[in-house]
Amino acid sequence: MGTKAVIRAAGPVAVTAVSVAATPVGKPARRVPVRTCVACRTSGGKRGLLRVVRLGAGESVGTVVLDATGKKSGRGAYLCPTAECVALALKQKKLERSLKTPIGEEVAKALRAAVTAADTEFAASPSENEGIPPDRG
Ligand SMILES: [Zn+2]
Repeated sequence: MGTKAVIRAAGPVAVTAVSVAATPVGKPARRVPVRTCVACRTSGGKRGLLRVVRLGAGESVGTVVLDATGKKSGRGAYLCPTAECVALALKQKKLERSLKTPIGEEVAKALRAAVTAADTEFAASPSENEGIPPDRG
């Protein structure tokens, strides 16, 4: 039995996809980024919109995150920082259509939390001790 263990190189497979640099010639491609809420289709203006990004680079490419800093690179979608637009966007999957990828529950939670925190800053926190009757007897 001289079976030798075939050690395969477990390194990253170098798929050298030489991307042909398709340089558009003769097109003054100066697109002005229009930030429009995916829910109500109005531009954010001065208020500023929530930015949801499908990450385009890095280790978690394709992941959808709520970009609070506005610095993440990738495909972005914008939402008014209002509970109405967040609810509408989540309900009608506006973000998923815009980003062409399913958004996770974490993103949905983050969005809700963002608008909730802004709207009801001093919301009474529900007691975590529910279920205990105040008095018995
Ligand atoms: Zn909106």
